[in-house]
Amino acid sequence: MHQPVILITGGSRGIGAATAILAGEQGYAVCVNYVRNRDAAEVVVSAIVARGGTAIAVAADVAIEADVVRLFAMVDAKLGVLTALVNNAGILETQMRLEQMDAARLQRIFATNVIGSFICAREAVRRMSTAMGGKGGAIVNVSSVASRIGGPGEYIDYASSKGAIDTMTTGLAKEVAQQGIRVNAVRPGVIYTDIHASGGEAGRVDRVKDAIPMQRGGGSDEVAQAIMWLLSDQASYSTGAFIDVSGGR
Ligand code: NAD
Repeated sequence: MHQPVILITGGSRGIGAATAILAGEQGYAVCVNYVRNRDAAEVVVSAIVARGGTAIAVAADVAIEADVVRLFAMVDAKLGVLTALVNNAGILETQMRLEQMDAARLQRIFATNVIGSFICAREAVRRMSTAMGGKGGAIVNVSSVASRIGGPGEYIDYASSKGAIDTMTTGLAKEVAQQGIRVNAVRPGVIYTDIHASGGEAGRVDRVKDAIPMQRGGGSDEVAQAIMWLLSDQASYSTGAFIDVSGGR
């Protein structure tokens, strides 16, 4: 059988890197997308190759449509027929209330988190759709429990962008169900990654952990397991579904 091929956006660190390594262990040929940090992406690629897997690193800013088109063309050329997409790339900015937010900030957040995910999903559907000559496939969007909580006083912009991801997951799942493509999402809670430093509070996970029923932050590998399950044949009857990986939050 042909080796399955997975593209993970923002795969050089955090949840994306953990997913890339797990996908490599599960036999996928992996494209690790990164935006700036080539060295970190190459470390992930080397970890996959050291375990006997196949992986490449490709630079692309998912907020730039031409970059995304080139990214998918690289996957076609170097790895073959795309089987799975993980829309993982996402940004968070310094915590603030709405009255301090300007349009440029909102445009940055929505360009990466929403438009990037839409354009990547579009490129994946064009390749996977059985109606367009493809062999089917699966997409997992990385949302957040913030879409349900709303991020008041901290980042309602980020939370709203994840709300858009949730709605896209629901709608696209129905739109492509008869084209052999499943579309699902994970909603991480607070996970120990570098994203909290970009929100201006590196220690955020430990600050909020008392409010989490399981009383701890999560690990990137715990999110990666849910992502890879949703992509697998074990989830063959799941589409438009959401898995919270949030310690009960
Ligand atoms: P992270 O900051 O370590 O990883 C995000 C990755 O996305 C980085 O590699 C970054 O370079 C990449 N990226 C950012 N903008 C990009 C762009 N324009 N093009 C391509 N890549 C880009 O943080 P993480 O926690 O691993 O985040 C992964 C996903 O999980 C994000 O979508 C985030 O919103 C989501 N999430 C994280 C948490 C958490 O607590 N860590 C909670 C809920 C959801």
